[in-house]
Amino acid sequence: MPEKPTQVPGEYLELLRKNGGRVTPIVSALLQRLHKSKRVYTPEQIKDELDTTLHCDIGFPTIYRAIDRLLRCRLLYRMHRGDGQTMFFLCCHPEDEHHHHFICTVCKRVFEIEMCMAHQYESHVAKYLGATITRHIIQLEGMCKDCLSDNVPKRRKQ
Ligand SMILES: [Zn+2]
Ligand SMILES: [Zn+2]
Ligand SMILES: [Zn+2]
Repeated sequence: MPEKPTQVPGEYLELLRKNGGRVTPIVSALLQRLHKSKRVYTPEQIKDELDTTLHCDIGFPTIYRAIDRLLRCRLLYRMHRGDGQTMFFLCCHPEDEHHHHFICTVCKRVFEIEMCMAHQYESHVAKYLGATITRHIIQLEGMCKDCLSDNVPKRRKQ
């Protein structure tokens, strides 16, 4: 039995509706899945998870449409990787103004970083260039505390 959509936190659904996004069973299942695991996923992994949850074989165009919808609402973020592979994760504080994320490259968990110390840097660069800076992207990666002590719960499925 697919899990009930009511398990998706209300704030996500509210944000989706505010942005004119329909909450389809796939979008709802995707939100549930990512909210529960708090990890980065490749589109292939997302498809596997949703196929299992919804007991069907979802096509990639449908998967990408669901991903796009959540990206546009800024519920989902893209992980910037050097190898060209794209991964996605759910932001747990979608309503928060400005913050960053730390991704553990071992367990793939995502941690919300509420602080940003780049604004001072921004104003230095702006002054140096005589330009204005309108945004910055910071992605922090490394090994989380649990992985460092090697007692992190292993991923259910690779
Ligand atoms: Zn976030
Ligand atoms: Zn970790
Ligand atoms: Zn920042």
